[in-house]
Amino acid sequence: MPLVRSILAAARQTLLDVEALLLPVACLGCERPLPPTEERGGCCALCRYRMRPIAPPVCARCGQPVDRWDTATGRRAGAPVRREGPVEPGPAAARRGNCAWCRSWPAELGWAASAVWLEPGAARHLVHALKYGGWQCAAVPMAELMVRECGASLRAVDVLVPIPLGRVRERERGHNQAAELALALGALTGIPVEREALVRSRETRTQTALAPAERWRNLAGAFRATGPLGARRVALVDDVTTTGATLASAAAALASAEPGIIGAVTFARASVPA
Ligand SMILES: [Zn+2]
Ligand SMILES: [Zn+2]
Repeated sequence: MPLVRSILAAARQTLLDVEALLLPVACLGCERPLPPTEERGGCCALCRYRMRPIAPPVCARCGQPVDRWDTATGRRAGAPVRREGPVEPGPAAARRGNCAWCRSWPAELGWAASAVWLEPGAARHLVHALKYGGWQCAAVPMAELMVRECGASLRAVDVLVPIPLGRVRERERGHNQAAELALALGALTGIPVEREALVRSRETRTQTALAPAERWRNLAGAFRATGPLGARRVALVDDVTTTGATLASAAAALASAEPGIIGAVTFARASVPA
């Protein structure tokens, strides 16, 4: 069988050559040339090190730093707590607590966690590379950071559900960045991904330019659950959390599929626009 073996070896080499053409030769975070050992990840070790994790003390429900919101609102947002994992289901009032950031979230969204801050530099570049640049491989280093920083929350998750894009936008973009992230997370953690559990019931305006109150209005009734989830614990997956409006709207819609507790995990967290 040496002929077959050499044909297979040649085919394998061709596939590797094609893959090399499709993988970035510069880091997607800082555009410096990637050392050959780091090429497959698309993001250099220095960028991974420099992205700033969201450090405790954080709100046990939404993962937002507690001190930050004490300062922003002039109110105490609750005793600082270290997040050990998702908050267990309980009475909505108890889960709401008095954190300024998640107080207005619907009861269906039990917890949310993000890996890093969406700051200028690597975090922002990776988000753009995945969303607009066509670099689907950026999902891998992003998912690795999500596992590193949100691992405790993910250990109590049975199924990953990406935030769906509208059909028109997905066609324009060619892919859904949240689905790419969910698939990369699923591959790293072994948690199954259900891409179709949640769909957009209507097209919405892009959230980027909207003020917080408009974001909530824009998303009212935007999602629809497609079938029962059988009491499984769900983590919604998205690239960026800004106000939490998308996650809250998606969780409220997904509740009709009767899952267990619904949480959300995102790669980056942006500050709320003033
Ligand atoms: Zn880099
Ligand atoms: Zn909170």
